[in-house]
Formats: sequence, structure tokens, C-alpha cells
Amino acid sequence: MKKSLYFLLLALLIAIMSIAFTGCTEDETENETDPENCQHIFNEELGYTGDDEAHWYACTLGCGAKYKIEKHVWGDINEATITKQPTCEEEGHATLKCTVCDKEKIELIPKTKHTVGAGYSSNTTHHWQTCGGCNAEMNKEEHSLKIAHYDQNQHWLECVCGAQGEKANHSWVTVNETTMECSDENCQATKTIVAEGHTCTYDNGRVTQEATCSTPGVMTYTCTDPNCGATYTASIETTDHVYNGAWDHNDTHHWRNCKCGAKAPESEREPHKYSDKPTTDGYDKVYECECGLFKTEGSTGYIDPDGWT
Ligand SMILES: [Zn+2]
Ligand SMILES: [Zn+2]
Ligand SMILES: [Zn+2]
Ligand SMILES: [Zn+2]
Ligand SMILES: [Zn+2]
Ligand SMILES: [Zn+2]
Ligand SMILES: [Zn+2]
Ligand SMILES: [Zn+2]
Repeated sequence: MKKSLYFLLLALLIAIMSIAFTGCTEDETENETDPENCQHIFNEELGYTGDDEAHWYACTLGCGAKYKIEKHVWGDINEATITKQPTCEEEGHATLKCTVCDKEKIELIPKTKHTVGAGYSSNTTHHWQTCGGCNAEMNKEEHSLKIAHYDQNQHWLECVCGAQGEKANHSWVTVNETTMECSDENCQATKTIVAEGHTCTYDNGRVTQEATCSTPGVMTYTCTDPNCGATYTASIETTDHVYNGAWDHNDTHHWRNCKCGAKAPESEREPHKYSDKPTTDGYDKVYECECGLFKTEGSTGYIDPDGWT
């Protein structure tokens, strides 16, 4: 019952004060606009008042005087309640609460990066990828026909997007008694020399060499006649690059290349993010990025780790 005792004392205090001002009711209204002449009463039990910046105890007489003004103590943004998840198109909201007065504020969470959706779109000259979330165009590039492909009869060059160059018939040359190969420098096609008078019926093929992101795979088709066993080969589409290989960078951004060496496209690139806590080389404060780049205090540029001693 501590609380009621407090109110009792408070009431008593107010009573004493009103006696002190007895006979001058005009003073009371004046007090509301004139904090200079107010005999402030602050009651912590009534809780805080505040604005966007700070919280305080307001004078209960309404004069506007503030007691114990303190800036809000916003909790950790990482522990804030996410009231709206960000997407690649819209910022999200995190609701932070002052740990002292319970005031809430909304902090914007930055939009997420676009995520590369499956496959490519293309026109006659270019290909591009689209964001799986918003369909934004990403990584637009000119076609580059440089992946060698072939089937039973023809060879051609392809772009990563699947766009095909002109097709040409194989130029078969005999390698040995049983096998022929295409003599085109890019073409890997092979076939068995078939006995005259026999027409092969091929099976559905089996993978004899897995495709990688840089090299098409090989599918081998075999004649279903057990007395024949002739084969021919055809290429299998390359797989997508996976950008989890070695770090690479420019002045402003870093990224990881594919293990095959293919450079990551724009969409995979992130700005450098230097550590908050510097280490020292004995002379300067040194900040390190996860890509291995260093930045020294006061310097505007960066020091390439390969050039670092
Ligand atoms: Zn007051
Ligand atoms: Zn507060
Ligand atoms: Zn998007
Ligand atoms: Zn293309
Ligand atoms: Zn060929
Ligand atoms: Zn056959
Ligand atoms: Zn690759
Ligand atoms: Zn970096």
C-alpha cells in the first residue's frame, strides 16, 4: 500500500500549496502558461510524456515544465519486431520500442536484393535474367556464341541463354576401323561405323560425361540390336554457374566468381563492408572487408591485399 501513501502525501502537498495561493484563483490559470511562476509538481507514478526524440515527466499542473528529460532508449534493431517484411520492391518496417517509456517508432528496413529467377529471356541481340520477385530485368548482355554443341548430324555454337548459331553438318573423318569423329575444331561428335545393309535403332541414351558450368556433357546413344552395338554422341547443356568461388572486387564492390572462373554478374555484387573494429599494423588503424580488402584510417582508397605487406 506504498502507492496510496504516496498519493496521500501528494494530496496533502497540493492542499498545502493551494492554501498558500488561496484567494488568487487567477494565479492558477496563469500558471498554465507561465512555468516561471509555477510550483511544479512532478509525479513519476503517472508515467512519462514525450515526443519523437525524448521522454520526460511533465508538471502535473500543466505548465509544460519537464523533469528528467532523456533521449529514448531504442532497443536493438535486430531484436525489433518486424511488422512488415521487406521485398525487392518495397521497404519493410521494424517497430522499435523505447525500453524506458514504451514509445514505439517505425524504422524502415531496406529493400532486399532482386533474386535471379530461373532461365533467360532474349531478343535477337541480347539476353537477360528477370527477378523472381518483381520481374525486373537483370544482367542484360549481348549474346555470345561460344559453347560448342552437337547432335547426331550437326554442330553449332550456343550462348549461355540457349540462343543457337548457325548449324552445320558434321565433317566425318575415320579415326580407326570402328569409329568416326567430326573434324570441326569445336565439335566433339563421334559415331561408330555401321555395317552396310544395317539400319540402327538407337536407345534413349545415357550420360557418359556430366555437364559442368563450363563444358557441355556427353550423351551416348546405342543401337538396340545386340549384334550391332553402334553408338553416337550428342552434347548436354551446361549447368548454371555457382558464384561461391574465389573473391573478386573493384574499388566499390566485391563478389565471388564461379569456380570455373566466370565473373559474377552485377546482381551478385555487394558494396564493400568494412569491419567496425579496426586492427592495427603498428602505424595505422586497419579496417578489413570480408573479401580481404583493407582500408586504413584516413585513407580514401583501399589497399589491395595482394599488395599488402
Ligand atoms: Zn509546473
Ligand atoms: Zn522513451
Ligand atoms: Zn525484384
Ligand atoms: Zn544469349
Ligand atoms: Zn561436328
Ligand atoms: Zn545398329
Ligand atoms: Zn562456372
Ligand atoms: Zn569487400
